[in-house]
Amino acid sequence: MGKTIIISNRLPVQLQISNGTIDAIPSVGGLATGMKSVHSGGESLWVGWSGLTDEETPAALENEIDVALKKHGCAKIKLTEKEIEGFYFGFSNRTVWPLFHYFSEYTEFELEFWNTYKAVNQKFADAIIEKSHDNDTIWVHDYQLMLVPQMVREKRPNTSIGFFLHIPFPSYEIFRTLPWREEVLEGLLGSDLIGFHTYDYERHFLSSVRRLLGLDVSFNDVYLENRVIKVDSFPMGIDYKKFASAAKKHDSNGKDSDLQIKLNSHKQSAPGTKLILSIDRLDYSKGIAKRINAFEYFLNKYPEYKEKVRLIILAVPSRSNVPQYQLLKREIDELVGRINGELSTVNWTPIWYFYRSLPFENLIDLYTSSDIAWLTPLRDGMNLVAKEYIATRTDKTGVLILSEMAGSANEMNEALLINPNNFEEQADTLKTAITMPEEEQISRNTFLQKRLERYNVEVWANEFMGALNRKSEENEPFI
Ligand code: UDP
Repeated sequence: MGKTIIISNRLPVQLQISNGTIDAIPSVGGLATGMKSVHSGGESLWVGWSGLTDEETPAALENEIDVALKKHGCAKIKLTEKEIEGFYFGFSNRTVWPLFHYFSEYTEFELEFWNTYKAVNQKFADAIIEKSHDNDTIWVHDYQLMLVPQMVREKRPNTSIGFFLHIPFPSYEIFRTLPWREEVLEGLLGSDLIGFHTYDYERHFLSSVRRLLGLDVSFNDVYLENRVIKVDSFPMGIDYKKFASAAKKHDSNGKDSDLQIKLNSHKQSAPGTKLILSIDRLDYSKGIAKRINAFEYFLNKYPEYKEKVRLIILAVPSRSNVPQYQLLKREIDELVGRINGELSTVNWTPIWYFYRSLPFENLIDLYTSSDIAWLTPLRDGMNLVAKEYIATRTDKTGVLILSEMAGSANEMNEALLINPNNFEEQADTLKTAITMPEEEQISRNTFLQKRLERYNVEVWANEFMGALNRKSEENEPFI
């Protein structure tokens, strides 16, 4: 058994340069946590971009950076500003991201983006080929690196390669519009195992493989001349313990953050009012503008709830040099301003809007203080916020309203599932959530919590690796 090599666009550490010294700070994101069981000890390596372009990296510190990364089992891929522009902001985020989230009208088909995407994928593949042996296991992550499996396979025909897509795979009718659709599918088919969050994404992928490449597909196997590729769904979980225990500590430690003090004082000054929470990156796929419009619709349909509810929107800045994101930011600023301007009273502002990212402790403050979480993505590969909200509800109260277009809706049937385009349904569902008896909240959340605790992010990573190892044993070359 060789070592495990993980490849993702970004490394799970953040480089900090101060006074000529380098520090690599481990990230706390879900993926980094889930991979802990896979990426630990000396027998694994994580390859990715460090977050610093070549232009931003002081040449004198190259070696130190490598040493700092090595301590965390990481190795960097060097990328120039121009490569990041075409590969990351270009093809990844102006072609694949909108297309795979069904925003065809935002999708740009630029040959230049595609060429840079190919060249950068080759860079990643070359680094892996250089650092790996035939008996290693390679796990490639996400939509930025869809060509890597095939590029590695060409040089390492017997290596075990897995790929996991963290965003939706769209239906054939959408995917077929991509000018480089065959190349992308062939890139992915360099893998032995291809994983998706849901069964639907898996079916969409298989349908595209069958119809665009004319390959034989049987159940969830794709037949190539000399290999069989397995396609399966592995819904990603969260670090349940981390969220549940942070919430428990939060309830008992008696030391409130500034945000918590503000939330408490709001609750005291307006007893009986309900806090409705939404947290998302500021991304058009998250349906934030529609949600704000639906909130206005709700307040007009059920005016008795004016001054009785407040919507908290935490929008985390994201990809702010892509024009669509700048336009969206302006749209949301204006919407919030207009609605607050029109509906506020001396005692009440309907929407509290934060455009920033918050530290973990403050996220816990928001999750634990909110009576309702209202998440309305128009498309979302998974949506972990929905899972995190439920995990922090230590007394099992709280209502989750979740878009059926989020991957997580498949595992969260006890939530109130809505179609984010249906304002009538959303207004009525908000009313149902506000008036839901506590026993019903507890009964729904008991089921949800059990499932989230069992299928946590570590189980997700282990199940994928287990399936990949089994697949590679089967995939001994045909005689
Ligand atoms: N999150 C964060 N800082 C914030 C707000 C949210 O780190 O200020 C985290 C949140 O806890 C969650 C992630 O960002 O783990 C968002 O994941 P999700 O799957 O909901 O959406 P994505 O951003 O991956 O599309």
